[in-house]
Amino acid sequence: MAKQSKNEKMENIVSLAKRRGFIYPGSDVYGGLSGTWDYGPLGVTLKRNIMNLWWKMFVEDREDMFGVDAAILMNQKVWQASGHVDTFVDPLCEDTLNHRRFRTDHILKDAGVDAEGMTMAQMDEAIETNGIKSPDGNPLSKSRTFNMMFETHVGATHDERSVSYLRPETAQGIFTNYKNVVDSFYPDLPFGLAQQGKAFRNEISPRDFIFRSREFEQMEIEYFVDPGEWEASFDALLKDIYAYLEALGLPLENIHELEVPAEDRAHYSKRTIDIEYDFPIGKEELLGLAYRTDFDLGNIQRVGGRGMEYTIKGTNTKFIPHVIEPSFGVERALMAVLSAAYTEDEVNGEKRVVMKFPEHLAPVKYAVSPLLKNKPELVEKAREVYSILKKKHGAVMWDDNGNIGKRYRRQDEIGTPYCVVIDFDTLEDDTVTIRYRDTTEQTRCSISELR
Ligand code: ATP
Repeated sequence: MAKQSKNEKMENIVSLAKRRGFIYPGSDVYGGLSGTWDYGPLGVTLKRNIMNLWWKMFVEDREDMFGVDAAILMNQKVWQASGHVDTFVDPLCEDTLNHRRFRTDHILKDAGVDAEGMTMAQMDEAIETNGIKSPDGNPLSKSRTFNMMFETHVGATHDERSVSYLRPETAQGIFTNYKNVVDSFYPDLPFGLAQQGKAFRNEISPRDFIFRSREFEQMEIEYFVDPGEWEASFDALLKDIYAYLEALGLPLENIHELEVPAEDRAHYSKRTIDIEYDFPIGKEELLGLAYRTDFDLGNIQRVGGRGMEYTIKGTNTKFIPHVIEPSFGVERALMAVLSAAYTEDEVNGEKRVVMKFPEHLAPVKYAVSPLLKNKPELVEKAREVYSILKKKHGAVMWDDNGNIGKRYRRQDEIGTPYCVVIDFDTLEDDTVTIRYRDTTEQTRCSISELR
């Protein structure tokens, strides 16, 4: 929180998101629930536009990708075999006086010590040697591991056999369906399975708005390749990731590749790139691209006992395919889009806040207004124009609240690219004013052109 309050741009975005109906703190009326966020009318559309664009670019537009949508609750064996039950942990330390709990690597990071690659013992040592205290100024305990999966029970009995988890990633729901899809479609290698959906992690310290939440959405692909040809697919997917980030309107200079060094990678991974973004909170992970070898399918074959081998058509060549995994977080993409779009400028000597979303992401494409709302003839004409645009574009807002200047300010804040105003000239010559968000320029065009 302290970090956020220092960061004015982030604070402005959080406050605009709430004020204008994009994102609200979860369970707010009951005092909130840390790490959860609710999407308002504009937020849900913006988020959907981001997810639909991904689905279009990575699934619909391609021949080599197949979509799946697996259940969130899965057999506990999935999470045992994947290693999540034993190793999906973060280091947790505690304020020894008030017992508030923190992620040890975050405590170190906030104190300017990079904990990447450190063991838990090394982190504790760094806390001691640097004299680091809790944010409340008290001594910290030694660290212990904390498993981030939310545990639950399936069915009416609560025993070890009924344990399940809210999935901490969507990836495993893809691996468990690999064989099903191969049996139904028998695609040629390389091919990918893609999934979007909720993931849950009991983060020790959720923070930085939606960046680190306890409930969030992922968009993941498992791309199955011949082990000898993984590098070409890895490079191609990296290029596709950049095309998507560009379509989100993210400036290239804010995107960075972190080649994760061998000692920080999962033991099975031969290459991982974290794509980082210059968020207002600093440079942080936006998404990951990892070469996971045959780790996951191999585990399923070993533990589940089902053959995961792929047979090259017309041959006896069989092997477990290797996997390249691009893993996107929707909230992080959304936060990057919000921060790239957030702009302050000056119009006629007045400060203006404008969300410069790319047009295809903007939750509202057109706002339609009668110049004066107490003139029935203007309202009637404006309603006619509204219906025409609404039928064509869907994402059209009726706005007759306050004077025209106020309406423009409001539409700028929600990122509406075009405001269409119906005035007395419209009644004479069927032309309307179009006002452009980015330049504030106004032009006239005929209603038939709008059509
Ligand atoms: P971090 O190191 O930031 O905790 P991670 O490396 O654990 O992230 P992955 O397990 O690789 O993350 O998950 C893939 C993607 O899911 C991340 O790149 C991120 O976009 C998203 N993600 C992960 N955890 C969260 C979270 N708590 N809140 C929002 N998005 C998340």
